[in-house]
Amino acid sequence: MIERAPHSMPKETGWIEVIAGCMFSGKTEELIRRLRRAKIAKQNVKIFKPKIDTRYSNSDIVSHSEQSLPSILIEDINEVLEYSKDAEVIGIDEAQFFSPDIVSVCNRLANEGKRVIVAGLDQDYRGVPFEPMPQLLAIAEYITKTLAICVECGNPADKTQRKTASSERVIVGASDIYEARCRKCHYIPKDN
Ligand code: ZN
Repeated sequence: MIERAPHSMPKETGWIEVIAGCMFSGKTEELIRRLRRAKIAKQNVKIFKPKIDTRYSNSDIVSHSEQSLPSILIEDINEVLEYSKDAEVIGIDEAQFFSPDIVSVCNRLANEGKRVIVAGLDQDYRGVPFEPMPQLLAIAEYITKTLAICVECGNPADKTQRKTASSERVIVGASDIYEARCRKCHYIPKDN
């Protein structure tokens, strides 16, 4: 992964960082790493995730490698504004599950001088851009694309392969339902 987060922090302004990639690419791990460093620097950090993602734990953000940080579960992205009044750094995980309002919320927080770090799936299981990630990528100052390793061939992978035939866009699950695949090995399951 190429590090594209700011090395020296901008001063007297906020900004937006987006960490985008497929499942098993280490997005949440990278989000946790950045938020931990901010906490060590005694910055006021607030972390949010959508209520839909109840894997592993109810109120922590947890990566597949089981690193975790306590987070606030929200249904509506606008709740972040209420909870973040005194926050300096705001982390949002699983951004693809929030409404398009996330774009104006992140812009508003950054305009207020806060550092906003957003992680999410940039494509759905068919390889179609997963809104609102494209819009977030467009407004971010710093973008990191995390790649996984293709389970079939070992190439760098940026697609999430669904192993079941369901055509629902969102099915919450982990390695029981999904695996990382490269462009060559990824396919859309039949019935779609
Ligand atoms: Zn492959």
